[in-house]
Amino acid sequence: MRILVVGSGTMGHGIAEVMAIAGHEVKVVDISWDILNRAKEKMNESLNRLYEKKVISESPEAIMARISMSTSYDVASDIDFGIEAVPEIFELKKKIFQYLDEKAPKTAILATNTSSIPISEIAEFTNRKEKVIGMHFFNPPPLMKLVEVIPSKYTSEETINETVELTKRVGKVPVRLKIEVPGFVSNRIFIRLVQEACREVESGEASIQDVDSAARNKLKLPMGIFELSDYVGLDVVVDIWKVIVSRGGTDVKCSSFEKKVSSKELGVKTGKGFYSYPGGRYVKVPLPEDSKADPARIISLAVNEGAWLIENNIVNAEEIDTVMKLGFNFPKGLMQIADELGVDSIVKNLEDIEKKGEKAYSPVKLLREMISRGETGVNAKKGFYRYT
Ligand code: NAD
Repeated sequence: MRILVVGSGTMGHGIAEVMAIAGHEVKVVDISWDILNRAKEKMNESLNRLYEKKVISESPEAIMARISMSTSYDVASDIDFGIEAVPEIFELKKKIFQYLDEKAPKTAILATNTSSIPISEIAEFTNRKEKVIGMHFFNPPPLMKLVEVIPSKYTSEETINETVELTKRVGKVPVRLKIEVPGFVSNRIFIRLVQEACREVESGEASIQDVDSAARNKLKLPMGIFELSDYVGLDVVVDIWKVIVSRGGTDVKCSSFEKKVSSKELGVKTGKGFYSYPGGRYVKVPLPEDSKADPARIISLAVNEGAWLIENNIVNAEEIDTVMKLGFNFPKGLMQIADELGVDSIVKNLEDIEKKGEKAYSPVKLLREMISRGETGVNAKKGFYRYT
């Protein structure tokens, strides 16, 4: 297959590498040769590391020979599949999709790696709306297995199937959303964890260290919620939060994250966020073993979101859990953790917080039905999953 990757930054060069490892001929387009040469160096370094670790058996030179670079979109003239990974700027994506639609064969699928721009709006800039799709890779693409596949309201079944097949062929695990929702699955759930962490601290229920210690030591997550936010970048977190709310998601009143961004404390990359990172380098945050934060409370809003996604037929519990395990390195899926902690305990926490005036915590219909059917999780042998 001939694949075009537009944008060779953090995501683009990694995506190009993944495609070339799988044997595809890859063309990479960016705005300058300086940028392209830097991307080439990074791909070389990464391939050498993978070769040394025996993750790949083909030589880095042979793989790199399948990758060509250009500063012109003309190279799109004979592609089968295009993946756009330019910065998250609506006008820029619009321009790229108009170019690609003009240059690429009518049969080619055009995918976007956008994190937040609606795929339907991007598709509308082309004359091939049914062939435009979201393909949301995780950073770094060569190591992260998950790809969210997001059809717009126009995407054809054929385009979805081809994208799912390509994702599998390059060794990734696709999670296909039934239809797009702002923030997809990954960021909708992540932002709910962030919002509850923020609310718990601002309301004085727990400290930042309490929440993060409970996340790491009780929920066994690889990072605390504030720690992970620092790692992602607090500006990125606030952007995702705002995009989801501006497109209809219920908000949670909490300003700690925005305040950090206003004071230019953006997390690891600026050396300071909720924690300090001397030299702008991530180090595992030291946390106390003990915490007064309740793990069921910490995940309650995220589980409510997960139940909403299931209830609306966007993904099932297993798919949510795949997203959290492969996209966020959770040792267990979120919905599985909910079953273990007890769906009743999750709902009690939601109702308690809802009473404090937070509408987002109103338990969704599916959760209320599960409680009335007694499907409270592992103890009841049925929750989001069945247990024997
Ligand atoms: P980046 O800034 O690291 O890279 C973008 C690249 O696009 C740069 O090399 C830039 O020179 C190039 N570019 C800019 N204008 C261009 C043009 N007109 N034609 C061709 N190339 C052009 O950005 P990134 O972090 O790789 O993000 C790219 C996309 O992937 C965004 O939509 C982002 O939301 C999404 N995304 C990012 C991450 C992440 O963790 N960084 C994860 C998932 C999705």
